[in-house]
Amino acid sequence: MEVPVSTRHPDALRLLSVHAHPDDESSKGAATLARYAAEGVDVLVATCTGGERGSVLNPAMDRPEVRADIARVRREEMAAAREILGVRQRFLGFVDSGMPGPGEPLPEGCFAARPVELAAAPLAALIREFRPQVVVTYDETGGYPHPDHVMTHQVTVAAVEAAADPQRHPGQGEPWQGSKLYYHLALSRAWFQALHTAMTERGVPSGMGELLAGWPDTPPALATTTRIACAEQFAVRDAAMLAHATQVQPGVAFMAHPRDIEREVWPTEDYHLARSLVPEAGAAAAAGGIETDLFAGLRAEVEGEVGAG
Ligand SMILES: [Zn+2]
Repeated sequence: MEVPVSTRHPDALRLLSVHAHPDDESSKGAATLARYAAEGVDVLVATCTGGERGSVLNPAMDRPEVRADIARVRREEMAAAREILGVRQRFLGFVDSGMPGPGEPLPEGCFAARPVELAAAPLAALIREFRPQVVVTYDETGGYPHPDHVMTHQVTVAAVEAAADPQRHPGQGEPWQGSKLYYHLALSRAWFQALHTAMTERGVPSGMGELLAGWPDTPPALATTTRIACAEQFAVRDAAMLAHATQVQPGVAFMAHPRDIEREVWPTEDYHLARSLVPEAGAAAAAGGIETDLFAGLRAEVEGEVGAG
């Protein structure tokens, strides 16, 4: 039985991270989740789909019995990963859309084929139950050209709005207005370039050169507003990723670098503050200041301090 998400202390800081598939929470922003969970923030991951159409990327796991029972295997992997990260997690119950080839239609009934408003309803209900001050998801490109990632962005934005609107979903929980919405800037070109350069300078073979060669060096569409120091949690992040054993491709470029170099050259996970009802946070972002806390501007309010500033 799942414990209701609303059982924790009502005044706690609460962080909701919305992802498309099991394993996305471990490859994008995982060290941030682990850091906040370790600090006592109530962290909840919402996973839109079961990852049923994901390929088995790890040859060691690519066995007929695994492929035949992939939905169960991925639920078990997710259960292990959330334990490692120290967070709670809910599936929203949608079916993975898979990665259609060019011109191929989406499978019938899959997550990305649903109308956004309808698909946002379970997440809106979860937001009203969990009452997160901070919500994190992908930007409008999905950060990765998978239809479920783009849909996750659309559904999250719609759910944040619907959860706050008393006219929407009446009778399904008290309206809840989150204070901040962030987008991941994980696995950026700049991140790959910094690691590749550092490895090359140190004479460490880098598998990132090929990837970078095919990646136009255009300025990022979204500004970095927020950097979360989480190098101490990289080992937890890695363990959580490895728990998704079917999804760990040996030697994949984003995992094949020395962690001491990563801690030295890129010890943060980075975000774009997309929406904020916290005036100071918006001002800091507009002025080019970089936040170092997803709850910047919210701690005084939530923790009941007076006159903080
Ligand atoms: Zn995914």
